[in-house]
Amino acid sequence: MTITGGCQCGAVRYRIEGALGRASLCHCRMCQKAFGGPFGALVSARRAGLIWTRGARATFASSNKVERGFCAACGTPLTFEYAGDWMDIAIFTLDDPSVAPPTVQLSPEARQGWIDHVADIPVRDLSEGQAGAEHYASIVSNQHPDFER
Ligand SMILES: [Zn+2]
Repeated sequence: MTITGGCQCGAVRYRIEGALGRASLCHCRMCQKAFGGPFGALVSARRAGLIWTRGARATFASSNKVERGFCAACGTPLTFEYAGDWMDIAIFTLDDPSVAPPTVQLSPEARQGWIDHVADIPVRDLSEGQAGAEHYASIVSNQHPDFER
């Protein structure tokens, strides 16, 4: 199985060879900050199976035990790297994030209570109405597509 992924702008791309390991959601304050979101979604992969196919990640040592990789051009969080043969990849940088459904949650002490009720939050279709439709039709994306090019 070969899995590909990369950052939003496409300056950094990678390929993962071999099976993925544990997929997790981490609610700790460090992951909240690093991802700018309610949790980090990470899946482990063998360090030897991760091949950087374009560009290079920048890193920030968020502690004495961990380096977090990211794209220096667009800021996308990419990795969570610790000592050993495995490291973690940010699940939503995979070209197909559905291959890594989380199976465990970590650091529940910082978990936001509203996460239990996400399905109850009202949904609004941003493309509704003429102005919305015209606005969305006028958007030109600079995001790298979810495949190699
Ligand atoms: Zn980028």
